[in-house]
Amino acid sequence: MMSLVRSADVVLEINLAAIQANLQTVSSLVGPQVSVAAVVKSDAYGLGILEVSRSLVDAGCSLLFVASLEEALLLRSCRIGVAIAVFRDEFDRYGKWYLSHSIIPVVNNCGELLAIDTAGKAQTYFLNVETGLSRFGLGLEDVRRRYQPHAFEKHRPSVVLSHLACSEYLGDATNVLQRDRFRAVYDLLRPVRGSLAASAGLWLGKSYHFDLVRVGSALYGINTAGVQPNPLQPVAKLRARILDVRKVLRGEAVGYGATFRACRTSRVAIAGIGYKHGLPWTCANRISVRIAGHCAPLIGRIAMEYITIDTTDIPETLCGPGAFVELLGEDFTIDDLAAAAMISPQEALTRLGAGCTRQYLNPSFPSEALSKPVAQAALKTSSGDFGR
Ligand SMILES: *Cc1c(COP(=O)(O)O)cnc(C)c1O
Repeated sequence: MMSLVRSADVVLEINLAAIQANLQTVSSLVGPQVSVAAVVKSDAYGLGILEVSRSLVDAGCSLLFVASLEEALLLRSCRIGVAIAVFRDEFDRYGKWYLSHSIIPVVNNCGELLAIDTAGKAQTYFLNVETGLSRFGLGLEDVRRRYQPHAFEKHRPSVVLSHLACSEYLGDATNVLQRDRFRAVYDLLRPVRGSLAASAGLWLGKSYHFDLVRVGSALYGINTAGVQPNPLQPVAKLRARILDVRKVLRGEAVGYGATFRACRTSRVAIAGIGYKHGLPWTCANRISVRIAGHCAPLIGRIAMEYITIDTTDIPETLCGPGAFVELLGEDFTIDDLAAAAMISPQEALTRLGAGCTRQYLNPSFPSEALSKPVAQAALKTSSGDFGR
């Protein structure tokens, strides 16, 4: 049988060394007393959970957070041996999976706490407390009732955590309120490790770092808090191939809805990327792309598979069919794209990661390291120094 082999028209290029460098940047920022856990949920924000986790572990990360038990089991099956914690996934139902694969549940409610009591001290767990996000987590009263000083010695969590609602707004009073509520629980549960800040919380100051920060966005080059100068390296580049070029006469419209009309006779390139690849529809007529160092505006709407670009001012030899246009790079990052599209950079990144062919630069591991899931029985895992 014949098989069709062709190179991708849309490539999201992920620089794994930049992710490792961002881990180092975060580690230096919080200092040696504070551990840095990496959040690799949602396929590492679209960048590939296995490649990203392996790179982070190689760079010294010893705790990964995922959203679901499936993600944790996938990491274990690919020989990721460091501690893995699951933000929320029914420990009361799936407890035996956690224990047999040394996976740490984040306990979010009283039902799960009962299951912890049943499982006994062999099961390491983290405790999530609700301090103002109104999502998951035990209320402050429930925590007091259960862990009162002098109440009989309960199996305690190794980490207590909570999540900030407004950390990207440095001056917001909600931050102070949540930190003070969290500190009360932290003091009550001592000795325990505390974790409050995610990426944006890094810049709220030392009093928000406690013992452990949980960062996703910052590792992936997203500058959540808009810190200037930006200490994080961009991680992703995005390019798409030009499929065709056509002349558009002055006064003619381009694309669905005729949202762009040429005010001069123009040379318009059609590139093979659209909202199917995760390019936000809302960046129509609002961004530019780079072609061999030149800047060219995206004109008209984003179609499912195509975009249109005004290349009139760029030498024709640089932007014929087959040439690539760059949509994300050093000087136009995921933060810029998201701002133009009026969505969050995390949303932009997860959508592009899911929709594009991904290529990896600078892996610190051989490609076979990820390709052979091992038999469950052969797994050697630990909950590291996050166990008790
Ligand atoms: C997603 C998530 C994080 C990481 O957030 P970033 O802002 O991407 O660093 C941390 N903690 C919890 C509970 C999360 O859900």
